[in-house]
Amino acid sequence: MFKAIRIQIPQPCKAQCKWCGTWKKNNFFTKLRDENLSLILDTYSEIIREYKPKYLYVSGGEPILLPQIDKFLQRVAPWVGKYIYLFTSFQFSAKRRDNLSLEKMPWEKMVLTHTSAGFDEKYWLDMTHGFPFELYLDNIIKLGQKPWHKRFKFILNHKYLRGELEKFADIIKPDNSWSISLKLMNNQSGDFGADKIKETKKNVIEILDKGVANLSLPVAFKTKITGEKIIEGFRTGQGSELCPYRHQPLELRFALYKGTPEYIKFKYRFCSHFPSNKHFIFKTGRDKIEDITNAYKNHDFFHWCKKCRLKLYT
Ligand code: SF4
Repeated sequence: MFKAIRIQIPQPCKAQCKWCGTWKKNNFFTKLRDENLSLILDTYSEIIREYKPKYLYVSGGEPILLPQIDKFLQRVAPWVGKYIYLFTSFQFSAKRRDNLSLEKMPWEKMVLTHTSAGFDEKYWLDMTHGFPFELYLDNIIKLGQKPWHKRFKFILNHKYLRGELEKFADIIKPDNSWSISLKLMNNQSGDFGADKIKETKKNVIEILDKGVANLSLPVAFKTKITGEKIIEGFRTGQGSELCPYRHQPLELRFALYKGTPEYIKFKYRFCSHFPSNKHFIFKTGRDKIEDITNAYKNHDFFHWCKKCRLKLYT
């Protein structure tokens, strides 16, 4: 029913990136992991088995640091049609990296996924509160050698794109198990309007067409702009009716919300662009999986679209 499911693993993240607020939940994640890990993983398993998504997105915290993350992913892999995207910051010690629990990884379905702040050391140190740059690169290279697919996501101004891709090619030396995705919407020279987004896409495609030094390998690129069609719909006065999310269920995304040793409450929603205070609650022991199906089928949640966060970009 849902093409993609996104889950949150209660494993604290060692990084303290300026652009991310999740590490501020580390105490909460630690408590949940120590008190309720099996309940959380069992609930996710049941949901994945029920909906059999094509894609599973595994975020945290830092899920790769969870002891036995491999066993959990091996357990759910048969119910995932295509790929399991495991998000990582690549910010952990070499000792931690070398002792990761990877033995049972369902490698052929795995995509190790990272969003990059680029390869400018000074900027990196500032944005990560000083996480050693060399160690970050070493973690990418070493974990990149494992037999999973790798997806590297750049969020940067298109003016720096060529230089950053050249550095990426020089340092990482990607082969065809890597793909690069350009999340263009987030940095448009300080201008987030729809016209700028289009212009950026054009510029980026031009850069890619001309080629980037050392990156002539069959590395796949994605230049998809998040919500491009929907933004256009808002601009042309058609409102959110063009939105594909409104016509078929695309994503079911969970966030850990509250927990006691007896139960867990998850927040869930069907679109990442709903206003941030809008979601449903799933409480273990009280709610059934069919309640999620019913929430999608029967609830008139599309009025939340009036405050679609993509409107920011019109
Ligand atoms: S909030 Fe509504 S209009 Fe916006 S992307 Fe989500 S489903 Fe579409």
